[in-house]
Amino acid sequence: MAKTIKTIGVLTSGGDAPGMNAAIRAVVRSGLAQGLTVKGIQRGYAGLLNGEIRDMKSHDVSEIIQRGGTILYTARSQEFIQEQGQVKAAEICREHGIDAVVVIGGDGSFRGAIALARQGVNTVGIPGTIDLDISCTDYTIGFDTAVNTAMEAIDKIRDTSSSHERCSIVEVMGRSAGYIAFHCGIATGAENILLPEIYDGDEQALINQVIATRKAGKKHHIIINAEGVGHSSSMAKRIEAATGVETRATILGYLQRGGSPTCRDRVMATMMGIKAVDILVAGGSNRVVASKNDAIVDFDFEEALAMKKDIPSEWMRMTKLLAR
Ligand code: ATP
Repeated sequence: MAKTIKTIGVLTSGGDAPGMNAAIRAVVRSGLAQGLTVKGIQRGYAGLLNGEIRDMKSHDVSEIIQRGGTILYTARSQEFIQEQGQVKAAEICREHGIDAVVVIGGDGSFRGAIALARQGVNTVGIPGTIDLDISCTDYTIGFDTAVNTAMEAIDKIRDTSSSHERCSIVEVMGRSAGYIAFHCGIATGAENILLPEIYDGDEQALINQVIATRKAGKKHHIIINAEGVGHSSSMAKRIEAATGVETRATILGYLQRGGSPTCRDRVMATMMGIKAVDILVAGGSNRVVASKNDAIVDFDFEEALAMKKDIPSEWMRMTKLLAR
């Protein structure tokens, strides 16, 4: 069992996600409630290396549960990827009396947390990314807000697409994973959903479907394209040229990262934040919090990062069934 933890730090790292603030609030308040000193580390590992560290009191996390983004800011750090940077970061933790760090972020941030643990600082990770692409967990903070934001935007595009009798290609985020695309596609009744995990690049099949739906009397044709497939603008030009149907591409981009977190994101972030502190108080380290079958659990970091998550095979059938 690790030595008793007295002071914990909390940071957000990698891409921001709505609900990170709720997780910070939960870590700060549950840490204080259990007699710990809590310090906020600004700008992720980059800020840690610059000593951007301040005490967090209960009122420092007032009025943030409903706010998107992260009050601690987030960053990426090349210096921290080098071992020298990691040694320096651990020294800075010791200078500030920080025994343990809660890292809220994605896979990359967790690799950083493992590196910090190797330098003698206890670490626990909380999955925070809109992409849902962390294998050990069924849920990542920010996903629900992001898909709802994208869904509302696609509903609006659909209105104008119908009025102008267009084909619309809407590109959503997700990096190399198709979770956002799949959920948005199903929720908006899209004619096609292109997922990086299963899209075979058969553009002729798409063209045939656009022609077929037009013949069947549909006034619009919505194609949800995942960031991991990409090339939406050139795809739109080729589809328009081949079908004669006016085709526009819209890349939703960063608006999917912002906004007030949904109820689900706030609740999950709160539960995960409390769990992270409980793990540290119980003497645990090098662990990542996860949601599995509706329970909040934790895994060893290395084991968690070695896990693989595939999209359900049923999704392929579902996307094809709806393409008419
Ligand atoms: P998102 O999925 O939202 O982009 P992420 O946490 O995967 O989030 P990354 O940019 O991959 O985002 O990682 C964030 C930071 O974590 C990096 O800038 C770097 O400082 C640190 N990091 C990433 N990989 C490693 C590694 N292998 N070793 C040490 N630190 C790392």
